[in-house]
Amino acid sequence: GQDIKKCSGCGIRLQSTAQGEPGYLPDKAWEREPVICQRCFRIKNYNEASSVAVDQDEFLRLLGQIGGKNALVIHIVDLFDFEGSLISGLQRFVGNNPVILAVNKTDLLPKVTNWNKVLNWVQKSCKEHGLRTVDIVLCSAKKNQGFDRLLESVAARRGDRDVYVVGATNVGKSTLINRLIRDYSDLDQELTTSRYPGTTLDMVNIPLDDGKFIIDTPGIVYPWRYSELVSREDLGAIMPENPLKPMVYQLNEGQTLFFGGLGRFDFVQGEHQSFTCFVSGRLKIHRTKLERADELFEEHAGELLSPPTRERLAEMPEWTRHELRIPKGSRLDVFMSGLGWVKVNSDQGALVAVHVPRGVKVLLRPSLI
Ligand code: GDP
Repeated sequence: GQDIKKCSGCGIRLQSTAQGEPGYLPDKAWEREPVICQRCFRIKNYNEASSVAVDQDEFLRLLGQIGGKNALVIHIVDLFDFEGSLISGLQRFVGNNPVILAVNKTDLLPKVTNWNKVLNWVQKSCKEHGLRTVDIVLCSAKKNQGFDRLLESVAARRGDRDVYVVGATNVGKSTLINRLIRDYSDLDQELTTSRYPGTTLDMVNIPLDDGKFIIDTPGIVYPWRYSELVSREDLGAIMPENPLKPMVYQLNEGQTLFFGGLGRFDFVQGEHQSFTCFVSGRLKIHRTKLERADELFEEHAGELLSPPTRERLAEMPEWTRHELRIPKGSRLDVFMSGLGWVKVNSDQGALVAVHVPRGVKVLLRPSLI
């Protein structure tokens, strides 16, 4: 029967129920002989790596295996969702193997960004998360920036190690891998998927011009990111495509900002001051009175306050309220994983609250920019 068939390319157990997970192939493709999964099919026929995703447990099992090998790890994170996409505990799993952090999507920050400051910020954050990196490379897979730097760093540090690329979903891992294939791989040579004993996970070996390989791993699904909660249609609204345009709001206490119908920011208490929103330009910001906010949402979510539409709203988790105190004289970001952040430069201090779907990671951090 179908349920015991394995992919003749990577050996993974085949399935037709979950597209985007390892071993998927469409119903009609079961007739192919030999039968291979959609991912191997793409690699074989189009030389194109595609993302597959796995849950945290499965991913950590895989990471543990890397710890036992002589490996160089490239950890790719999304600069727009840094805390949401950083693999916490990575250090424990990779053991003494060196880690290069590739901070992707630099094209999303405003053009005038002070990159030294960003680099410092990333270094500090890594330290706080207990991640030791041998190098940090700011890059943009989309704009093809920072890649030479990344490859140089890999070349300088790899020795005889295998290079593993790890990251959460949607951070740009396959965009990066496909760039590497295009720019540094001999296209005559076929990409191979290879099977590691004792794991159900498939990884893709990418041959580079120098005869060495880079190994793509499945993307890890983190449930605390907006990108995992919203529908495919709304993903386009929350993920910025162009450089962020900071939106400055002068607010009095008792005012609220809605980010479409996806999130809400309340200025609960404090002196009149400015709040700078870094969210996708496709997400409309609506200002209202705090005392009217619940009612407005009841009446207008899915219409005036959208995305999401009413139907898709019904599929989202209930909102939770997070109250946050901004100390006097601090420069902080109120961060909502995958949606963006609100920068607060508070001389007097402030009490704010955000409302986001249950499970979304919310935190205060030193201002990124
Ligand atoms: P993966 O799930 O990690 O393999 O991510 P993908 O490569 O499929 O990319 C996820 C989304 O991020 C896609 O919509 C890409 O277009 C976008 N993306 C990838 N790299 C960049 C980048 O450098 N800048 C921007 N702005 N978007 C990117």
